[in-house]
Amino acid sequence: MKSINRANLSCNIHRVVIKLGSLAVTKEDGDIKLDNLKSFVEDIAALKKSNPKTEIVIVTSGAVNAGKSFLALDDLTSNKEMAIKQAAAAIGQPLLMHVYSELFKGQQLTVAQILLIHDDIKNKVRYLNTKNCLQNLMQNNIIPIINENDTVSFEEISVGDNDNLAIMIAELISADLILFLTEADGLFTKNPKEDGAKKFETVALESFNIDEIDLSTKTSVGRGGMRSKFESIRKVNKLGITVIIATYERARPIMTAITSEVGTLFLPYQQKIKKRKSRLLTTLKKHSAIIIDDGAWKALKSNASLLAIGIKNVRGEFKRGDTVAIEINKNTIASGLVEYDSFEIKKIMGQKSSTFKNLLETYHSDVIIHKDNLIIIE
Ligand code: GLU
Repeated sequence: MKSINRANLSCNIHRVVIKLGSLAVTKEDGDIKLDNLKSFVEDIAALKKSNPKTEIVIVTSGAVNAGKSFLALDDLTSNKEMAIKQAAAAIGQPLLMHVYSELFKGQQLTVAQILLIHDDIKNKVRYLNTKNCLQNLMQNNIIPIINENDTVSFEEISVGDNDNLAIMIAELISADLILFLTEADGLFTKNPKEDGAKKFETVALESFNIDEIDLSTKTSVGRGGMRSKFESIRKVNKLGITVIIATYERARPIMTAITSEVGTLFLPYQQKIKKRKSRLLTTLKKHSAIIIDDGAWKALKSNASLLAIGIKNVRGEFKRGDTVAIEINKNTIASGLVEYDSFEIKKIMGQKSSTFKNLLETYHSDVIIHKDNLIIIE
């Protein structure tokens, strides 16, 4: 595999996901940052002009922040948090799209809005529909602008944050690059506003010691943060996708990040995950896990399926067909597509498969996760 660096990056990218966080597009009080959006749009137009074959998808946050000042209740920490966010997103999303649409029109480019929830990517049919739609738009030189469909989303089914959404989309369209435009200009050893913070120019996560950094930095607006970004980046680097984190607070932020040594460049893994299994990494269901014992972990490492006998516990609720994390000693070590609902696994965990027919109403399989639907993360 050719190694990626800044000098050859722009010739090696065909499909790019650009992720714009809430503070890249809105002020703390929710006003849309018109100047920022203008410069993003000009830059994307320039990128397309320099290589008309480049396909670009935007994942934008900011809908909740842009809409919340219109609501009487803006206490997002109250127990009405989810309802307020849903309403705020319904107000803010069209405001945001209107600005994007007008600015791109000024560059003779057309945009399309796509709002997704986790199920749209998890469900095979909806995944393929979304993929076909995106391909169709990109082939027609339209710029898809994607956000989570916050209005119908709630904790259990949410993508989590738009960093996660961006990596799902990158997997879906087989992107070559994700550019995260953030406040910070890359990955630092600690909060970049603190003295002595050191920036990483290039990072190969395949051989990176996570203890070198403090990942607790998070902005007050939006849901992501450095930890979530870091976890997301690791997943897509494993799929062969390059990632850049760079600041939105400079002139020509997109072109500069792609063509010069700014921000942090995260290199794709040399050892890539097979395309067939890539969705298992990006569609992991939040808040749920299967906890296994040492024997099962040993078996998984030697390429076996996950059996009920090695399962110690189940956390959260999930359904047959969901992608669920597999944990040992509180560490996620694998993920896979489950053959049974969580309540069924609770009935058969620790048991041999010969007992399933007596313990369950419906029998699906002798295994809980088949080895073909499982990937080892660590
Ligand atoms: N979808 C949310 C919004 O548009 C943002 C989620 C996030 O910040 O990651 O406001």
